[in-house]
Amino acid sequence: SSLFAPVELAPRDPILGLTEQFNADTRTQKVNLGVGVYGDENGRLPLLQAVQQAEARLLATPRPRGYQPIDGAPAYNKAAQALLLGSDHAAITEGRAVTVQTLGGTGALKIGADFLRQWLPQADVVISNPSWENHRAIFERAGFNVGTYPYYDADSHGLDFEGMVKHLESLPAGTIVVLHACCHNPTGVDPTPEQWQRIAAVVQSRGLLPFIDMAYQGFGDGLQEDAATVRLFAGLGINVVISSSFSKSFSLYGERVGALTLLTTSADESARVLSQLKRTIRTNYSNPPTHGSAIVSTVLNTPELAQLWEQELAQMRNRIRDMRGQLVSKLAALGVQQDFSFILSQRGMFSYSGLSPEQVARLCNEFGIYAVGTGRICVSALNPNNLDYVAQSVAQVYK
Ligand code: PMP
Repeated sequence: SSLFAPVELAPRDPILGLTEQFNADTRTQKVNLGVGVYGDENGRLPLLQAVQQAEARLLATPRPRGYQPIDGAPAYNKAAQALLLGSDHAAITEGRAVTVQTLGGTGALKIGADFLRQWLPQADVVISNPSWENHRAIFERAGFNVGTYPYYDADSHGLDFEGMVKHLESLPAGTIVVLHACCHNPTGVDPTPEQWQRIAAVVQSRGLLPFIDMAYQGFGDGLQEDAATVRLFAGLGINVVISSSFSKSFSLYGERVGALTLLTTSADESARVLSQLKRTIRTNYSNPPTHGSAIVSTVLNTPELAQLWEQELAQMRNRIRDMRGQLVSKLAALGVQQDFSFILSQRGMFSYSGLSPEQVARLCNEFGIYAVGTGRICVSALNPNNLDYVAQSVAQVYK
């Protein structure tokens, strides 16, 4: 008999399961709108020019691969921090910002969650309803109770702003509030700048701890524009936790490039926080890998590569916007009565399309178009080769 006999089979990841189902589908015309990665106009995962050029430079001066510091490469951390806050932000110049390199945005969430669980053991966590599925899982695994705050309003296809604010106002001081900085996953619905002001005011007056997840900087309205939420909270002088990721913005998913940034109230507090973050990292994976962070920091610290990267990022952002626009106008041109203009005001890779579970099932069964049961579609999986087919199929299920 095996000591592992009690091990139960874990449920399949629903979105990865969708991709397996898609791959096994033998129809010639099929489209996978379930995935969470950016595809270019040919539906392929891009390898950015800026990344290729940075790798060429790194290859030209080969370096030995020793251990990195526990908290990662200093040049990488500094660049990641500057991208979030702006290099001259008071939190940086006053030594109130602590940034450590992490294994993607997920790694940042995990290190952040473990750190908070140790030092704020009384706190509960709230996430948006709905949120990226891994938010709940990561914070629960770290030992937290995870609740939700109202977020998506299905009737308006927008934000339940009053519900959200009312809920935040009811939370005990010290509650950890996970917020999406921009390009909300899965809905694509973000608060307006004015709504963010009000959210920030409630967070501050209630003494809540904002944990801002920034997985899509540059995919909303621009690198600087998308940092506005983080900078708004940073300007309050309160404690803030930020998980950030370069997976999407550099198309470096497999390199695991992310960062965790904590804003403290003094340089002394920063030193204590950093010392504890290092212990958390040390007991998880000791120190982060070299290659991905070398690529990102080469790009960010080389002006001509940084400029090239920004152009390529803008291309990705604009292509998604263009697909949103074309999808909406094609549906209207096909005579679909339903108003889809809300898709235009959504941001990022995803859209809560308003498709019902039955319509999602029909798209899959009749047309080979795969979307998540919630109606979430990945807009960046749309391209000139599949857009007409998707629009025509969606029009059919609305008849
Ligand atoms: N947060 C959100 C909201 C995400 O959508 C994702 C990626 N799907 C992550 C974090 C994790 O990013 P990474 O792949 O860098 O771990």
